[in-house]
Amino acid sequence: MSRSPSLPDRPRLDLDPDMSDEERLRALEEHYGEILDVHRELTEQLDAADARRRQLKEEVDRIERENETLKSSSLYVATVEELDDEANEVVVKQHGNNQEVLTEVSPRMTARIEAGDRVAVDDSFSVQTKLEGETDARAQAMEVEESPDVTYGDIGGLEDQIREVRETVEQPLIDPGQFEEAGIDPPSGVLLHGPPGTGKTMLAKAVANQTDATFIKMAGSELVRKFIGEGSRLVRDLFELAAEEEPSIIFIDEIDAIAAKRTESKTSGDAEVQRTMMQLLSEMDGFEDRGNIRIIAATNRFDMLDRAILRPGRFDRLIEVPEPGPEGREEILKIHTRDMNVDDSVDYGVLADKTEGMNGADIAALATEAGMFAIRDDRTTVRMEDFDDAIEKHENDGTTEAVSTVYPDYAY
Ligand code: ATP
Repeated sequence: MSRSPSLPDRPRLDLDPDMSDEERLRALEEHYGEILDVHRELTEQLDAADARRRQLKEEVDRIERENETLKSSSLYVATVEELDDEANEVVVKQHGNNQEVLTEVSPRMTARIEAGDRVAVDDSFSVQTKLEGETDARAQAMEVEESPDVTYGDIGGLEDQIREVRETVEQPLIDPGQFEEAGIDPPSGVLLHGPPGTGKTMLAKAVANQTDATFIKMAGSELVRKFIGEGSRLVRDLFELAAEEEPSIIFIDEIDAIAAKRTESKTSGDAEVQRTMMQLLSEMDGFEDRGNIRIIAATNRFDMLDRAILRPGRFDRLIEVPEPGPEGREEILKIHTRDMNVDDSVDYGVLADKTEGMNGADIAALATEAGMFAIRDDRTTVRMEDFDDAIEKHENDGTTEAVSTVYPDYAY
């Protein structure tokens, strides 16, 4: 943004009454000269402002025209395959039909795009605009973490599940040769199932951390709700991205949203979900030599899953991640309070009993809430009474009832 130039100082004329006529004439001539200088300077500034105004008006007109074009016609999404910035030509590939077209672009657009960008093209394949990060569905639908910071030590009460995940996901990534020598195929996909907030996502992230793999998460529910019509393409993209980022862990959360049992209804929404699921199955089936990519899915609704996804070669290893028992709750409490200043009065065993019915996420929130009670009381050391207050608050919030109605299969 350009700033307004500073104005020249206004010339002053001081005439002494005792001056002779000659001196007075000279002073007036000098003052006149100064006024002419200021006038020249102001005229230059005015010309510059006029030129800038004209330039901005042209810009506004151009943006308005662009806006009109964008509003008046539907555009197709394409990917820039190659860009020749000297000839101002691009090869774009239209999504959906995969048609590749060589087309001309304006020098202004050439400067803004590069190979791999998603762009919007009109009927005649002229590139209208570049789709920025926030409109890029791939970026929105997938959460990618180079190496998440969750470790097995951050997960409480799930020793058996950690062991199984290490055997089935971590070992094949670290030492694929071992499986080849033994002549067995490691499980294709691992399905973690159990009530919400029990550590399923943490388990998947911890394997990625342990194996230095990229963690790529996609939520089934979002595919169905937010990216209508794009589900199967995004599933394909997910596997492509995983291959680019090898070693990688694909984590599909809430897989029930795309792999629920087929229902009688035949709405177009169902057809779309079906297509997304078929794409997932075909990616898994055609993924013979999976290399350094492992697939983990999670669900809170195991009962709803279409059995087709549980066939051998697909999600053929099921790991149940249950609600924590008293010992699990005690461990989770210790994990979530390890960076807190906890008073000796806090008895973890007693707290484990008092938190019956809570899951890992509830316990994490409880620890923070207890800390908040201490701070409200002007203390930095958290006492047993703070936990009691936090438990009471949790019970009054009614969280437990709300969750158990949604997931009736799991007893609280
Ligand atoms: P959802 O099914 O709702 O996606 P989830 O089973 O994947 O839930 P996570 O996302 O792994 O649950 O857990 C949510 C949060 O709860 C974690 O970030 C962590 O703070 C806490 N938590 C859950 N389970 C555990 C656990 N076993 N040990 C330690 N913390 C836990």
